[in-house]
Amino acid sequence: MPRYVDVILPLPLRETFTYELQPQCPTLPQVGSRVLVPLGNTKTYTGIVVRLHDEKPTYATKLVLEVPDEQPVVLPGQLRFWHWIADYYLCSLGDVYKAALPGTLKKVPAKPSAAKALPARETGDTRPGFPLTEVQQRAMEDIEEQWQRHNVCLLHGVTSSGKTEIYIHLMQKAIEEGKQVLFMLPEIVLTAQLTERLRRVFGDRLGVYHSRHTDRQRVELYRRMLSDAPCDIVVGVRSSIFLPFRRLGLLIIDEEHETSFKQQDPAPRYHARNAALVLAAQHGAKALLGSATPSLESYHNALCGKYGLVTLRTRFAGMQLPDIEVVDAQEMQRKKMMTGIFTPQLLAHIRHALEQRKQVILFQNRRGYAPVMECRECGWTPRCQQCDVSLTVHRSLSRMVCHYCGAVYDIPTVCPNCQGRDLSSRGYGTERIEQQLQRILPEARIARMDLDTTRSRQSYEQILHDFEQGHTDILIGTQMVTKGLDFDNVSLVGILSADQMLAQPDFRSYERAFQLMEQVAGRAGRKGERGHVLLQTRDAGNDIVHQVVAHDYEGMYRQQAEERELFHYPPFCRVVFVYLKHRNESVVESLAADMAALMRQIFGQRVLGPDTPPVGRVQLMHIRKLILKVELTAPMSAVRQRLLALQTQILGMKPYRAAQIYYDVDH
Ligand code: ADP
Ligand code: ZN
Ligand code: ZN
Repeated sequence: MPRYVDVILPLPLRETFTYELQPQCPTLPQVGSRVLVPLGNTKTYTGIVVRLHDEKPTYATKLVLEVPDEQPVVLPGQLRFWHWIADYYLCSLGDVYKAALPGTLKKVPAKPSAAKALPARETGDTRPGFPLTEVQQRAMEDIEEQWQRHNVCLLHGVTSSGKTEIYIHLMQKAIEEGKQVLFMLPEIVLTAQLTERLRRVFGDRLGVYHSRHTDRQRVELYRRMLSDAPCDIVVGVRSSIFLPFRRLGLLIIDEEHETSFKQQDPAPRYHARNAALVLAAQHGAKALLGSATPSLESYHNALCGKYGLVTLRTRFAGMQLPDIEVVDAQEMQRKKMMTGIFTPQLLAHIRHALEQRKQVILFQNRRGYAPVMECRECGWTPRCQQCDVSLTVHRSLSRMVCHYCGAVYDIPTVCPNCQGRDLSSRGYGTERIEQQLQRILPEARIARMDLDTTRSRQSYEQILHDFEQGHTDILIGTQMVTKGLDFDNVSLVGILSADQMLAQPDFRSYERAFQLMEQVAGRAGRKGERGHVLLQTRDAGNDIVHQVVAHDYEGMYRQQAEERELFHYPPFCRVVFVYLKHRNESVVESLAADMAALMRQIFGQRVLGPDTPPVGRVQLMHIRKLILKVELTAPMSAVRQRLLALQTQILGMKPYRAAQIYYDVDH
């Protein structure tokens, strides 16, 4: 019997820890087993065993307190995957462990939990989906043919072309062959509408893994996946890549372009699409990426032959893509014809749709009442005390909120700078738009869908249910209304302002603006008559606006790809954002300068910055950013080693001890 175990603890520490096994330990842990271990004088943690051995460490080891389960909870394949995540995304194994296991599996169990026997499951109760149309059938055969030569295939199919039906047929085939399927979606698309559609076909061979599920539900699914009667299909969000699969044979990622697949905070800052493709490769599984507006990365990979490509150009049942009308908001403003944010054209179309008993979706990518409050006399605007950002007014809360740290403030009635009383709101959030529209159309039944109205899963599903049942005429929302929704009766979509999306200081902002607008347009006219979209903008000459009007994805791709290649941005290189944080601004300044100099010694011209990000201080921490651009062919492990060595060197310098450095790979 080995004497020692190396374990990962749920802490942002790079190393593993070694503990000694009690000689009379009743259960011998294995690689992947949970063990209860002490740390320091008072703390007990649940660790994951990664190695058993007899090598006595140079320091005094503590004893493993308990081995709570008979069987490992993490499979060897998962550990391999954890290592890849930690390596590639420059974080610790502890960070990965924290993200990978649902809450209570990481907690110290009150008493040893015997692995529960799960009820035997019927595997007969799948029903066929809709028969595919000829076009869909051909697309499916093309995908299978592409899989002969490529492990990954991109399905570029316009909105409502029936991609979901094709997925269902592919999943059916895979499980008949005894394979497991992982079907991934961005958080917000995983609605009751879709899960019901899948459950009707797959019954309880389907498991759903969602961050809005309770921890108990997630632990239950995790344990079921470990059992000898696991789900054949898991539909899940980002974190579903961490479930224990033993025979993963097919990976499908819908809405693969969605930026929410990228985890921002905390570490691991992984990109779930890219990580899932690595997972699939480790399992020897085939992968399908689907989107009406593919990411530049995936489309590039398809064009250069790394992925297969299958295209669906027509909507199901011969429906036409919506026609898109651009309205010049600047001109309307000059002519003093605006009612708040609404052009007369949009209001006329809304009225017409309501008269026809049709429904309307209005999209504005900004929540709250107004993004800025301003004193008309001296120009003062309220800002967060902890972050360098102006506060968003929320009338429903009668408060101002910082969207970066969540701090809440009273709305002033008097300007603290000049004592003036003329404080006005500038800009439009969804809340203000709802209020304005209700005043203009008092009879209309209006609902709002944004982060503020959907805090609970019920409220989110309720809003969608009411809209689906026709209890709501107009749905106003943020990007939440752009995705995946399949309603029959929507004849009009209004994009209230394209401008703010186009003005984002990010190299992806044009791509993203195109995707959001094309996707929200895709909600119109899915059944019945052709849909209509009104796009309000003060920048009617912008190429992106023309490309949305023409549904010209390829044109958008060509133009954006050309610029990215010219200025060295993904998909033509990899970017690693290096963030440096400190409470003291002059310290972070010199830290960033020193780090930049050291990085330039190694990476030369590949280093950009330091810069102050658009919001240069969050929660009292001053932030600076460096960008490292790495050739696609460069070995990431070497880059990682050098960055981490630099980090150790620089954080070892006295003035920088309290600083934080972290990385965002493939931002
Ligand atoms: P996408 O995923 O490409 O946006 P969906 O799969 O949601 O498209 O299909 C759009 C609509 O058309 C859905 O309501 C779907 O049920 C219907 N549909 C698509 N293909 C078929 C089919 N072969 N038979 C019947 N209905 C279909
Ligand atoms: Zn703040
Ligand atoms: Zn003032």
